[in-house]
Amino acid sequence: MTALLSGGRLFATALACLALGSLAQAASLDSAEQHVRIGVLGLFHSRQLTIRPHEGRPVELCCGDQTLRIEGGQSVDLILQNDSIECRSRSIAVQTSQAEIRNSDADFALEVPGEIERHYRGALVIVPAADELLATVAMRRETAVASIVAAESPSTSSPEALKAQAVVTRSYLAAGPRHRNFDFCDTTHCQYLGTLPARGEAAAQAASATREMVLAHEGKIIRALYSARCGGQTRTLEDIGLKGRHYPYYRARCLLCVRAPDPWTRRLRKQQAFNLIRQPGNEEARLHLVRQLGWQALPSNNYRISLSATGAIFQGTGSGHGVGLCQHGAAAMATEGHSLLSILRHYFPNTTLRSVPRQ
Ligand SMILES: [Zn+2]
Ligand SMILES: [Zn+2]
Repeated sequence: MTALLSGGRLFATALACLALGSLAQAASLDSAEQHVRIGVLGLFHSRQLTIRPHEGRPVELCCGDQTLRIEGGQSVDLILQNDSIECRSRSIAVQTSQAEIRNSDADFALEVPGEIERHYRGALVIVPAADELLATVAMRRETAVASIVAAESPSTSSPEALKAQAVVTRSYLAAGPRHRNFDFCDTTHCQYLGTLPARGEAAAQAASATREMVLAHEGKIIRALYSARCGGQTRTLEDIGLKGRHYPYYRARCLLCVRAPDPWTRRLRKQQAFNLIRQPGNEEARLHLVRQLGWQALPSNNYRISLSATGAIFQGTGSGHGVGLCQHGAAAMATEGHSLLSILRHYFPNTTLRSVPRQ
């Protein structure tokens, strides 16, 4: 049954909603183009989400055996109730185990009430998970690339730097999933994914100009990494205590970061600094700390430690793990006239640029 939400009144039509259709099926209906499944807004652990159309195009939301057609200006709240979801509007309340928007080209806004609203283009599935709603959007990989470049890049970046970011981002996605219930999350654990940029925006143009380009090493796509500022020299995986990946990364001198190293000083108590003193530069130890105290508690893994009476003083440079592309350095190279290829060669030695294979 299709329920049309119009002016707050409910109209029913005879269309059936196949509520058990999976997200993968929804994606495969569309085209041969690759899709990725992004777990969205999970950081908020919300028990309630609101769906509304984006820019006036109606969306059809499957709730159990009913399809709710949501027109511009209307919305549907999804509320976790024990192990099920209540889809609630001004005119209807439906219980279901799964809510879906099955059209993988649908534009819709998803809101965590009182916290954040983002809009997406893709097929949406929402299911109950533990004590929250789990929202996953299956979107074209190129849509994800544009959305991530827009979210991860400084707004002042020039076109060649944005193109380099697009290739790096696409390589990361094409190298394979990182999660079990979906492929990637939308936080810095994987890559920060925000709202889809408009077609004419610089991030969308960078994705389009580098369409299907990925970085490979010894015939395999690399999970290309990047960070904000390397502090003067990028690092290998071994430098930061990571092992077992096929591309080892290399130390690339980053002239802009040498000239403007962005120094910082942090003081930590003995207990907080214990693992970092035992394993200086170890990224896992840094992540463990910043997940508890915030990213600014130790901005990078490029530092010197001196012990004090109460703890340790960290004097360092840069921001982020320092492996792969340095966004700050890449932006400077692009401003100085370096090409996409030149930037990628500098930060990813011994790689080749190739087209992502179609399955
Ligand atoms: Zn993740
Ligand atoms: Zn740098």
